[in-house]
Amino acid sequence: MNTLVQPTSSTDTFYIVDFDRTLADSDKLLQVFIEITNQYIVLPLSQVEKIDTDVKAKGDSFDTASYVRNHLADQDQLDIWDRLQKQFIHESRALNMLLPGASELLHVLNQNQLSHGILTYGNPMWQHLKLAAAGFNHVHRIVTTNKHKGLLISSWLKEDGLFHLPQEFGGGTAHKIVLIDDKAASFEGFPSKPSMGYQVLDLATALPAQLGDVPSNVMHVTTLREVIDSL
Ligand SMILES: [Mg+2]
Repeated sequence: MNTLVQPTSSTDTFYIVDFDRTLADSDKLLQVFIEITNQYIVLPLSQVEKIDTDVKAKGDSFDTASYVRNHLADQDQLDIWDRLQKQFIHESRALNMLLPGASELLHVLNQNQLSHGILTYGNPMWQHLKLAAAGFNHVHRIVTTNKHKGLLISSWLKEDGLFHLPQEFGGGTAHKIVLIDDKAASFEGFPSKPSMGYQVLDLATALPAQLGDVPSNVMHVTTLREVIDSL
């Protein structure tokens, strides 16, 4: 017996956009977070930077927020954590934390009523904090701890040939997925055509962790502008 709840809506294409280094300037977010943190506590900065570098080299995202929060919790100062978070969100919003083309891409998706959501990999607390700081509270978003987003997306493809979208993406179904992401590893296990991907990466400034092989239905582009032009 089929006990599946009927999908509420069906769309042809669902666009999934990555957050770190696709929409947002992650280095700037971390820099501002560390600057604000230093107003409250003395962080062992060299240690933080070393951990960050080590983690980045492995292609992961350093869990800065948990590090600072745990540090404050150990000293029974979680009230400072609350103030710090609020100040980080407030000050970030006064700055532009988005990469070139990010606002336009989201504007074009909204304008043309193209269903979309942000799929970001990393520690949930730090990712949610950065999403809020970048002003994405109102966008459908999922934080995953699976760096191979393609495998996660493929798991949504059911026997009816449709992608059954998670509730965080509004539920419903889609015939195909378009994934926009800077990192090759994100496309591992990505579904075949008609789904497709854009790896947005300037090879002149790419980090080793962003590089790697991608499936044949993933196109390399240098800027978000090229993605916008092809929508
Ligand atoms: Mg990224």
